[in-house]
Amino acid sequence: HKAESAANPCRPIADGDLVIVYEGFDSMKAVRVSANGNYNNKYGSFAHKEWIGKPFGSRAVSRKGSGWVLLLAPTPELWTAVLRHRTQILYAADIAMVVAFLELRPGAVVLESGTGSGSLTTSLARAVAPHGKVWTFEFHEQRAQLAAEEFKANGLGELVTVAQRDIEASGFPEELHGQADALFLDLPKPYMVVPSAARCVRPDGMFCSFSPCIEQVQRTCQELNAHGFRDMRTMEVLLRQLEVSRQALATDLESSMAPPQSKKQARRQEAAGNAGGGGGGNGPKRQKAADGSAVAVVAKPVPFGRGHTGYLTFARRVVEFS
Ligand code: SAM
Repeated sequence: HKAESAANPCRPIADGDLVIVYEGFDSMKAVRVSANGNYNNKYGSFAHKEWIGKPFGSRAVSRKGSGWVLLLAPTPELWTAVLRHRTQILYAADIAMVVAFLELRPGAVVLESGTGSGSLTTSLARAVAPHGKVWTFEFHEQRAQLAAEEFKANGLGELVTVAQRDIEASGFPEELHGQADALFLDLPKPYMVVPSAARCVRPDGMFCSFSPCIEQVQRTCQELNAHGFRDMRTMEVLLRQLEVSRQALATDLESSMAPPQSKKQARRQEAAGNAGGGGGGNGPKRQKAADGSAVAVVAKPVPFGRGHTGYLTFARRVVEFS
């Protein structure tokens, strides 16, 4: 039924399924359904057996009716939000860039190291399913073992193979030379692995390395250049949260938002909008409230925790390189 779950996220929940229990926007939990199980939270107690047979996406009400949760079908994005952290992990914004710029598609073969908590691996697996393959290498024995167990339990056992190996010291195994459509590194010294990556990535295939420090990026780029990779580009994905609100317009603000009379006025108005919204197009938008008074919809950047994660360096293996 795991294959069916991927194909049909609206099918009924069955005993043994992984469910993402949504309690609120910033509170979700991964729960393995078992006929005798209970789920307890601040809203009360929920019997798993009442979830069985409901379609994924249903609302479940607590025993005493004092609250509810949503029973979501797992996706790689939700898994990244709820998984148990054994290491630092990649989050959805970086993962989206990695999957897109590695040009992953169904049937592709991807090599990865290190596996860490398996956050990225889960998205790599979905991108290459159903007939592709992810080979992922981790030198920490327990992490490798736990990741393998989780992939199997989440129905990815066929798509993902985990092996324990020190990739910086030994490189990727010889049998993978020339086999990879794409290769991804999240390691402390990625530049040490570039010669091995050059042997594994097929001509025209893609390479990516995630590094928090620009010095690692520089050394990696030098190695990439020396080993037949081209079209290098390094990017940093920064999320910015905007708080959107409606504000009643004061008379002077309202008049400053009147249609500009001249180019000079237009530039001045745009500058005023950018100061509030922090970027093109974020300035106040004029609307009429129900009572006819003027209101503005304002998007203000709000400080929030997550800033720099790391730099993503992509490169393409050239067709001819000796
Ligand atoms: N990208 C992963 C994720 O999204 O869950 C997180 C990777 S974590 C930051 C880095 C991992 O690389 C750690 O689990 C670490 O044990 C592993 N590692 C470090 N050096 C390694 C090496 N030489 N060979 C293989 N794995 C290594």
